[in-house]
Amino acid sequence: PLHAASTFAEAARRHLEAGDPEAVGAAIECTKEIADAISRTAQIIRRLRNFTRPQSEQKETLDVNAVVSEAVEIMAFAMRRADVTLQLELATELPPIRGDRIQLQQICVNLIQNACDACADLPARQRRLHVRTWARNHEVVVTFRDSGRGIDAANADRLFDAFFTTKPAGMGMGLSLSRSIAESQGAKLTARPNDPQPGAAFELALPVRERSP
Ligand code: ADP
Repeated sequence: PLHAASTFAEAARRHLEAGDPEAVGAAIECTKEIADAISRTAQIIRRLRNFTRPQSEQKETLDVNAVVSEAVEIMAFAMRRADVTLQLELATELPPIRGDRIQLQQICVNLIQNACDACADLPARQRRLHVRTWARNHEVVVTFRDSGRGIDAANADRLFDAFFTTKPAGMGMGLSLSRSIAESQGAKLTARPNDPQPGAAFELALPVRERSP
């Protein structure tokens, strides 16, 4: 909608510069479109705020393998439909973490959806996603490595920006929201190329639950 607002503002300016009475009418129509686009933007932002509102957070002690497995189950149909072959590698005896199960699942679901999207242009048998859980120092790490189109170096710094998308019908909020959710749980979400293979690698690093005194 912001793009629409800016296009109509430009059109209004051109009409007003023309100056004749008909052009003024057209400019007034443009201002109505601008007002509509702005109220649609406000509505989207309100919806997103409700979606990420921290008050709904329910922190509990979690087994990351269970969280990841549930997200994989939620996305099983989407992966089948996208012809993406999943390799799931869950470490045994991971230490527990503390976090909001639903919110962490949302991050995993979003990363799996993005991996499916990134593989869309490949022949079906080359579409792969490797999801792995493992322990590293005081963290439990979940990595998502796909064989998709990979991250364009020019875009690498913008992936997590709100409204950044390279998809025709994308909203560009998935990674931005996922990173805010991760940060609200004391976790880190990062992206890098899936070197030396083609594709992208996303890493969600969650701090291990501290022992009670
Ligand atoms: P959206 O999916 O609506 O585009 P996201 O915030 O989830 O929004 O993603 C932003 C952009 O980051 C995508 O449009 C794409 O360009 C890039 N991206 C995300 N995940 C991947 C991936 N697995 N491989 C390559 N590019 C990706």
